Amino acid sequence: MSIIVNPKQVYSYTKMMEDILLLTEAYPFLHKEVIGHSVEKRKIVAVKIGTGKKSIMLNGAHHAREWLTTALLMDMLEYYCHRHENEQEIRDIFSKISLWFVPMVNPDGVTLVQEGADSFPQKESLMEMNQGSSDFNGWKANIRGVDLNRQYPMDWDSIDDRIQKPASAMFKGSHPLTEPESMSLYLFALEHKFDAVACYHSSGEEIFWQYKLTGDLYHSAKKIVEQLAELTGYQLIDPGPNPSGGGFTDWFIMVQKRPSFTIEIAPYVGPVPVPLEYYDKIWQENKEVGITLAKACLQG
Ligand SMILES: [Zn+2]
Repeated sequence: MSIIVNPKQVYSYTKMMEDILLLTEAYPFLHKEVIGHSVEKRKIVAVKIGTGKKSIMLNGAHHAREWLTTALLMDMLEYYCHRHENEQEIRDIFSKISLWFVPMVNPDGVTLVQEGADSFPQKESLMEMNQGSSDFNGWKANIRGVDLNRQYPMDWDSIDDRIQKPASAMFKGSHPLTEPESMSLYLFALEHKFDAVACYHSSGEEIFWQYKLTGDLYHSAKKIVEQLAELTGYQLIDPGPNPSGGGFTDWFIMVQKRPSFTIEIAPYVGPVPVPLEYYDKIWQENKEVGITLAKACLQG
């Protein structure tokens, strides 16, 4: 058994695409789909392990600088492939659950953070959106300067709109779902009606799960998120009386009426990519998250 994914590197879109190809060759039970394309026509890829009726989706790198979440999800996918080959219990779980990975929602943004603006023809306008700086390490948005996790149709009008034009972070766009990356994930979620979702972000070691949730769904989501908190050691966030909407989790729990969790990996590092030195800790905290969600869905 050889290891394909090396998460301890600047994990690029190209690397991810190579690794997905190698994984689907090594593990024929995997299923790959292109669920959409970015502004710059990069593929937004989903990979499924399992054949069950119930389904879960894990996604990463909505935000460009948070690309370590892609490495984490690719590592997790490979880890579950190994266990699928070696453990009957895991095969049983994946006969009842389909676990979908969308490791990189924002491939253009990730490429900008990792490679800078030189390879983009619109370098001038990117620098303008980036307050004149050629250092794109802190960029969160997609390549058009829209924050993809402020694009989903849940209380979109009430999202703070102090940022009125395309920028490196926080601009919510002119309408919900104007950006192909958010729209692709939105349509993918509508198509599959996932039983649960986890959206990986960084940083802060926190989990958002509640938004304005009440009633039975609040209690069933709480049961699951308490397991995730125990597993990761991350803090559960109380949204307070006036949470800001527009995030995938906000939309999914309120409209799809199923649990979704926004998991912020790594100790708080500020507006930069999470340093690779944190990876081993992050891996130990998160490697069982997909299996834990799968087991919770089978019980629920
Ligand atoms: Zn984020």
